[in-house]
Amino acid sequence: MHVPSLLPDELHLGFVGRVMRLNGFTDTASFRKNLLRMLPGAREVSIETIATLAKMPLGRYAYHHSLMPFLHAIRLAHQAQYTHEDVTAWYGNVARLGRLTDEVSLCPGCVAEDEDFWGFTYWRRSHQIPGIDICPKHGSALHRMTRTGALHPPAQFLNKAVAVDSAIVAQARSNEIVRRYQEICLLFLERGSPLPVDQVRAHLINRSTELGLRACEVGKRPVLSDLIEEKAAGPRLWANFPGLEGRAKGKFHHPVDGIMRGSHVAYPAQAYALGLACLFDSAEEALLAMSQPIPKVQGIERASLTGLPSEERTPNDHRLIRATRAFLLGGSLLEVCEQYHVTLAALETMLRGIGMNALGGSAYAM
Ligand SMILES: [Zn+2]
Repeated sequence: MHVPSLLPDELHLGFVGRVMRLNGFTDTASFRKNLLRMLPGAREVSIETIATLAKMPLGRYAYHHSLMPFLHAIRLAHQAQYTHEDVTAWYGNVARLGRLTDEVSLCPGCVAEDEDFWGFTYWRRSHQIPGIDICPKHGSALHRMTRTGALHPPAQFLNKAVAVDSAIVAQARSNEIVRRYQEICLLFLERGSPLPVDQVRAHLINRSTELGLRACEVGKRPVLSDLIEEKAAGPRLWANFPGLEGRAKGKFHHPVDGIMRGSHVAYPAQAYALGLACLFDSAEEALLAMSQPIPKVQGIERASLTGLPSEERTPNDHRLIRATRAFLLGGSLLEVCEQYHVTLAALETMLRGIGMNALGGSAYAM
């Protein structure tokens, strides 16, 4: 079987289509039959079979040609590396070839360029991210059609695929949060390994507190979803996060605000991308902040209970722990105390308790 070279950002399902066409297969059933005959031991045409055919390790193939790095951008710390099981579990069979919905998207600008440059056209993975409506390169509206279209050249659908709704495209072009969401999603796709969820959560809480937002369910301060609604209300936001529309102000909205809560389970990547787009001024700044390891404050909980006057212990212990982390992440002593509503004396006692000089400079295990 003739197997072509994979192209930059080429979508897995599109590659399957190219292999089929180059070898004269017009239906998936005969392709499957031939492929299984060719690869003894393979029982199904899976992403693994195709990676074998492309002579590429499965992890590398999935990393460069599927949406897995986006979907798994934030995970539990012990899942920091993509494993063989991860890939096969997510893309177990030919029916789940890396799309979250039943559609594939193309950009007419990319199709025209590919025809000029390569002499043929192919499907790009970065056009398939949920919530991305315009081509990252050309800024033009993406055109969508049913997923099986990816088995054929995109050029074939230039006149048939339907352009994304113009109101959504207008918001994607003009709203800075929606634009940054797109940039963050693309950075997720390029990351070599997932970000640990507990690390991301600690940074998100720090950043929200800095901005005067509430990271817990009950309270008076506004929550992240209030800020999102204020900055990005519109057709794109409602299409991607329908529950946000009509939500009561100040109400903790779990599908989005929950990114501050979960440390045992990661939320969908879209929720993190939206939260980060709102909390930071640039995509690079957001990703840089999230990739800083959180200080390992060994014994921090124990330290909080020793040497503190009893009235300082509760209910502020969790605030004290967060304040200590914020200080260790570079916050100023006074600002941190103000943000987390803890007294200077309590924070100083805490820092002494964990062997840290409040003025900084102490060697600290990161
Ligand atoms: Zn394009």
